[in-house]
Amino acid sequence: MTEHTLRSELVACAQELDASGLNRGSSGNLSARLGDAILVTPSGVPAARLAPDMLAKMPLDRSDGHYEGPLKPSTEWRFHLDLMRARPDFNAIVHTHAPFSTILAIARKPIPAVHYMMAAFGGPDIRCSGYATYGTPELSTQVLTAMEGRNGCLMANHGMLVGGPNLARAAWLAHELEALAHQYYHVLQIGGGNILTEADLDDAGRSFASYGVQDRARG
Ligand code: 13P
Ligand code: ZN
Repeated sequence: MTEHTLRSELVACAQELDASGLNRGSSGNLSARLGDAILVTPSGVPAARLAPDMLAKMPLDRSDGHYEGPLKPSTEWRFHLDLMRARPDFNAIVHTHAPFSTILAIARKPIPAVHYMMAAFGGPDIRCSGYATYGTPELSTQVLTAMEGRNGCLMANHGMLVGGPNLARAAWLAHELEALAHQYYHVLQIGGGNILTEADLDDAGRSFASYGVQDRARG
């Protein structure tokens, strides 16, 4: 894929997340791997005003905030860079302040396996990271810990984050994580529900391999 195409995809993805209510205004940020660099959304620009040439390009081998582009990168550039370095299985990262994920993150409640879609996240739960101020190296450390062996996590008193092999898959995971948060929030209102076993999730995970829609999303 050319850099031009990837830039356009990233902008389209940010706008879709905004239109579907997962993000609002300038909340949240996205990145995509481009060889030995990442493209990351600029800080403070609402998705509706985003254009492909506004994205910042940051080399993966530098940690000093160096970037190319007309606007400074997202305040969260550290966790985008750190996660891309730590997780070669990720080529795209999506961070949102989606409503139900954020409510659970405020309550600091990890999401248990309330639904078989949990199998898409690499383990029996979605953890909630410890709290750290937005945009700090400490937040990046907290997020990397919560993401160990997982494709998504909640971020205490902040929001959520997912990573995937491409932007389409990462956006799909962001929607699925918000759906799990929505379901779990309501299950808590009615006094709790039944939690699936790891064997149940293993079975669901195996059958994902032949589930057409997700194969297409995986690209
Ligand atoms: P940026 O606009 O700097 O990406 O910040 C939004 C955000 O969600 C911070 O966590
Ligand atoms: Zn945020």
